[in-house]
Amino acid sequence: MRVAVLSDIHANLTALDAVLAAVPSVDEVWHLGDVVGYGPNPDEVVARLRELGAVGVRGNHDAAALGGREIESFNVDARRAAEWTRTAIADETRAWLSAQPETLEREGFLLVHGSPRDPIWEYITSTPVARAAMADLGKRSGLHGHTHLPVAYVEDDGRLETMSPGSGSRLSFDGRRVLLNPGSVGQPRDGIPTAGWMLLDTDAGTATWRRTAFDIATVQAAMTRLALPERLVTRLAYGL
Ligand code: ZN
Repeated sequence: MRVAVLSDIHANLTALDAVLAAVPSVDEVWHLGDVVGYGPNPDEVVARLRELGAVGVRGNHDAAALGGREIESFNVDARRAAEWTRTAIADETRAWLSAQPETLEREGFLLVHGSPRDPIWEYITSTPVARAAMADLGKRSGLHGHTHLPVAYVEDDGRLETMSPGSGSRLSFDGRRVLLNPGSVGQPRDGIPTAGWMLLDTDAGTATWRRTAFDIATVQAAMTRLALPERLVTRLAYGL
């Protein structure tokens, strides 16, 4: 099965549409949560994913938009954006977000936003945490988001190798278990201001990371019109 894996879209319709225009023909679209939050177009992004029949999992910003207590641990800008999102989203958007599970198993992969042991919140940002996540996955491989950083952990003879894939990087699993992060579509944080995503071929056992430029000024103008926090507007230009 050929799959486009999208994470942390964060209500950035401009970035999502640029990515969808670049996606070759795939069998399915999987998302890894944080579909909303930060960005200006939560309803439109969810509508797109619904049209595509995308399947995926709930992120901390999605939970916050649904009224969860997650919002209490957000910084001031994330909190303001989440409060706006709560009041802005349509009932159909809320219903779709509510239907997203915390974990989803598909084609031998466990999909989570954060980590297998804490699907909503834990950041996999170090080898020890990645090693714990690999143990929790059992025989499965994993896909995660949340950090907004493209990364691959590959289990090789009991060792865990870490890779930071760039645009066009391709990984052949060769029967090894992997834990992969496609990066963020709507708010990249690796210093490269283009949408990050991944093509997964579950039959061939390969993943290819991609970056797609989007019209940052359009997103920034929409955020400014909605009085979303200035720092969130500015950071898009730097990919941080
Ligand atoms: Zn996120």
